[in-house]
Amino acid sequence: MADTKWWDAVEPAEVAEEVMAMGFSELQDHHLADIRYVMVNKEAGKDGCKIMASTRKLPGLISAQLQPKGLAASAADTHAKPIPVFVIQVWSDGWANLDSKARRALIHHELVHINPVEARIVPHSIEEHNSTAARFGDWRQSLTQFKQILDMAADA
Ligand SMILES: [Zn+2]
Repeated sequence: MADTKWWDAVEPAEVAEEVMAMGFSELQDHHLADIRYVMVNKEAGKDGCKIMASTRKLPGLISAQLQPKGLAASAADTHAKPIPVFVIQVWSDGWANLDSKARRALIHHELVHINPVEARIVPHSIEEHNSTAARFGDWRQSLTQFKQILDMAADA
């Protein structure tokens, strides 16, 4: 098994700048969240499901090490409470196979996971199995809503 490698995700960061202009003003405030973009050579999916990207919030201890001013001198320092650091990790082979619309959609998806005000990861709007949907259709409100949203979707 080859080693996992990480490197600077230049293109995803550029796409994120473009996508954030669509209405992520809080994410553009660097005092609320520090968002980093990392490319990785391995995908993390299970059961043949390819995970193109993931978003994580780093633990406070690690975020504290990454603050631009370094660790605070005392608890009274304003930066003793670190700006939360979120990392969007993108699988390099998956990224290479996406067209520009899918790249924007992928990065949009990952950015929606970030709640900078509450410094937490936002869960997905829906969770369902293909086989349940195939048998029962839009059997609950979240699916009905999702179906309506798909029908009305803007083609960004
Ligand atoms: Zn997600």
